[in-house]
Amino acid sequence: MTTIIDGNAIAGQIIEELRVEVSALPENERPCIHLVRVGEDPASVSYVKKKQDTAAKIGMKGLVTVLPEATTQAELFALLAKLNADPSVHGILVQAPLPKHMSERETFNFISPKKDVDGLNAASVGKIVQDDESGFASCTPSGIVELLKRTNVKTAGKHVVVLGRSLLVGKPAALLMLQKGPFADATVTVCHSRTQDLPSVTRQADILIAAIGKPRFVTRNMVKEGAVVIDVGINRIADASRKTGTRLVGDVDYDEVMPIASAITPVPGGVGPMTVAMLMKNTLKAWKISRC
Ligand code: NAP
Repeated sequence: MTTIIDGNAIAGQIIEELRVEVSALPENERPCIHLVRVGEDPASVSYVKKKQDTAAKIGMKGLVTVLPEATTQAELFALLAKLNADPSVHGILVQAPLPKHMSERETFNFISPKKDVDGLNAASVGKIVQDDESGFASCTPSGIVELLKRTNVKTAGKHVVVLGRSLLVGKPAALLMLQKGPFADATVTVCHSRTQDLPSVTRQADILIAAIGKPRFVTRNMVKEGAVVIDVGINRIADASRKTGTRLVGDVDYDEVMPIASAITPVPGGVGPMTVAMLMKNTLKAWKISRC
């Protein structure tokens, strides 16, 4: 029987564990994450609100600065310089996507590595490569590792195929699976849009991580019977049967693939809720680092 990996339940456990740990701290010494949003992109508005609400639920401080769309790169850097220097701020996250006139890479790299709770700056990625646990792993891939851990899916010696090579998901997911340790130690293949005969590669996966942003792209013929399938995709498609006229689907054709997988994450309710939980976990880690 296929195990449906319940990301909502696992993220809920993590949030509760963090709440218990944080509530034992004096009010004036609690971890603080400062979220920065530039512009009014509706998805960013809702993601930032979710992050702030989750921080509050845990008892952390979640501060938000909203800058207008026309903010210059220099103005954003000036704000980040202040936040980098402010000892009362432990974690900083700049919500992507940024307006086109800004560089996301330069912005991520401007955040102090000690406060980079989103795990996207060069120092954080480098620490993952060096197996240095003092760094921050990007939240969605570390959420995937946590899902595997908490459902006891062993990765050591297994063939993990990662579909997608973005800085946000694919590359760090591959790097985490390559690290040494009980829930890593995998043999890793990374695929992308130039990979030839993709199904023949994905069919080799004991664990398939799909992160390409294409609705229901991974079909039954691309998956080995008994594989563990982690669906990172969040895609909104038309659905006339819904009041809203749309619904969310992943990068995996769930109805086709679920019956042959040994375990699978649903969309919604799989990887998605883990991202915010791991951001909060990283914020507590940043707070601990600030006290060393
Ligand atoms: P992205 O930056 O657009 O990267 C997509 C990757 O997929 C690229 O590496 C691209 O290859 C590859 N790709 C695209 N079409 C392909 C094809 N036909 N065959 C093989 N590879 C293909 O996307 P992302 O930021 O990684 O996000 C991926 C998905 O995850 C999206 O649906 C996003 O909404 C979702 N997501 C979810 C969460 C969460 O919290 N659950 C967090 C982040 C993202 P090239 O590099 O060759 O172009």
